[in-house]
Formats: sequence, C-alpha cells, structure tokens
Amino acid sequence: MNRILALRLLDAADDAAIIIDAGSRIRYANDAMYALSGYAAGSLPGQQIEALLPDAVREQHGAQIGAYLAGYKKSRVLGHKRHFAIRHRDGTMLPIVLKAMDLGTLDDENFMGAFFIDQRRELAIEQQNAARWQQLQRIALSDPLTQLPNRRAFEIDAVRTAARSRRSGHPMTIGIADIDFFKRVNDQHGHAAGDAVLQAIAAIILAQARAADVVARVGGEEFGLLFPHTDLARARQVAERIRLAVAAAQVEFEHAPIAVTISIGLAPLPADGDWKAGFTQADAALYQAKKNGRNRVEQA
Ligand code: GH3
Ligand code: MG
Ligand code: MG
Repeated sequence: MNRILALRLLDAADDAAIIIDAGSRIRYANDAMYALSGYAAGSLPGQQIEALLPDAVREQHGAQIGAYLAGYKKSRVLGHKRHFAIRHRDGTMLPIVLKAMDLGTLDDENFMGAFFIDQRRELAIEQQNAARWQQLQRIALSDPLTQLPNRRAFEIDAVRTAARSRRSGHPMTIGIADIDFFKRVNDQHGHAAGDAVLQAIAAIILAQARAADVVARVGGEEFGLLFPHTDLARARQVAERIRLAVAAAQVEFEHAPIAVTISIGLAPLPADGDWKAGFTQADAALYQAKKNGRNRVEQA
C-alpha cells in the first residue's frame, strides 16, 4: 500500500520525474513531466529518452548508460545535481537542474530515474538582474549630459591603462582639455546654450580621438584624456587635431552660432606608473596653456 501512495505522491509532484530502463526507454513520467515537456498526457512511456536530450549528448547517451551498467564507467551524472537542458516537444531547449539516480533492478531489469527541475524562472531572474546591473553600471559611470564616461570611469580607466602601460613598457600620455572662457558662453547665451556647447565639444573631441583613446568628462567643462601606447610627441599631434577641430566648429543654438576654443595640457605617464601624478602635471601644463593665451596645447 505504501508504494502505491508513494507513487501517487510522485504523480502529483511539482518537479518533473521520469523513469527509464536500460535501453533508455521511458517507462514512467509524472504529470509535471508532461507539463514541462509539452508531450500529451500518457504519451511518453515507450518512447526513447533521447527525444528529450540536447543534440550534444543524444548520440552518446545510450552507450554511456551501457558502459555504466556494464561496470566499465563511473557516471558523472547519476547521484549528482547538474545544470542541463531538455528539448520541449516544440523543439525549444529548456534549462533544468537534472537530478538523476540509479534505481537498481526490479525483476532483473535495470532502471534509472531523474527529476527535471525547471529553471526558466531562475534563469529569467538571473538575466533580469544582469541587465539591471549593467544599467546601473552605465548610470554610475557615464555623464548624462554628454554620454561620455564620467570622472569615476576615467579614474578606473586610468588605473587600468597605466598598469598595462607599465607592464608592457609602452609609453602613455595623459591630458586635460578645458573649454576657454566657458563662463562667457553661459553669461552671453544662457545655461542651456552652455549645455549644448558641452555636448557638441564632447562629440568633436571623441570623434577626433582614436579608438583606443579615452575621452571622459571629468569636471564642468573639463575633459580627461588618456592616450595609451602613445608618447608625448604623438599625443601632441592628436591633441592639436582635437584643438583645431573644436576651433573650427560652430555650435548652432537657437539659430545663434557659438564658437569656442579649448586649451589642452599633456604629460607623460610617470615611470613609476602613478597616473595621478601625471594628471597633476597635465593640469599644470593646462594652466600654462591658459597663461600663454589659450587655444593651445602645452606639455609638461
Ligand atoms: P578658462 O578659460 O580660464 O577656463 O575660463 P572659464 O570661464 O572656462 O573657466 P571658469 O572655471 O571660470 O568657468 C567654468 C564655467 O563652466 C563656470 C560654470 O558655470 C560652467 N559650467 C560648468 N559645468 C557646466 C554645465 O554642466 N553646464 C553649463 N552650461 N555650464 C557649466
Ligand atoms: Mg575648468
Ligand atoms: Mg574653462
């Protein structure tokens, strides 16, 4: 009687359960198994389990069971919980946790059983969390006005590129670009115009920089620059190109063209890899550029 009640309990279980014989033929499936797999109630016994297996394991499955039952091979599946997938009747693959076990013999036949624990909900939650995490990271590391990396992101990139430069022995240059007389833009055209100019200048600097360079908004009208794999002379060429492109541009705001220039300070990454010291030197060079008349590039 107990066995019959246990079977009723298994019939009603939330997790899909299945029993196969030594020939991989399905001999029992509970209701949850039909619900999970999409097969019509009562249609699984007599079918091969292979119909439910992923392509990658289907072909060796029979041989592996054979080798296990013959005692040639230990099973890496039986007795363990493993992340796995099964094929729904409609062909889609469903993520599951597989808990398979050797049920021993009954009437001289070998049987194996398995629970298939549906993981779709867990996987969906994981994917949602990953997407949220990415979104949070984007928010935390980017400047909403210009879409450039913000100061925090710049510091992370500076640490990373400085460490790489030190390891590889390649030179690296650090820079700061600052818009000249930006306060006047706000005073003459309004804060919204200033914002539009910041966006336009950010886009110009980014377009003139090379793919591996880092351009970030590190302050109000200041942009941090990282030139990996680049010595001071080459960085100066890029900085000049940026400076000229900004000077040549007109930002249209409410039909009034606004022109600005930028000054840039450059410094090499110090030999000890201390990027902050390099940044301070670049800031001193920027100060020189301002003092020497603005719309210029100076180097430490
Ligand atoms: P200098 O050539 O010496 O750099 O002069 P400057 O006027 O550019 O420098 P200053 O530091 O005196 O002024 C910077 C101005 O930038 C002041 C501030 O109102 C403006 N600013 C900073 N952040 C923003 C912003 O997000 N939007 C706007 N519209 N203005 C900003
Ligand atoms: Mg400034
Ligand atoms: Mg300024």
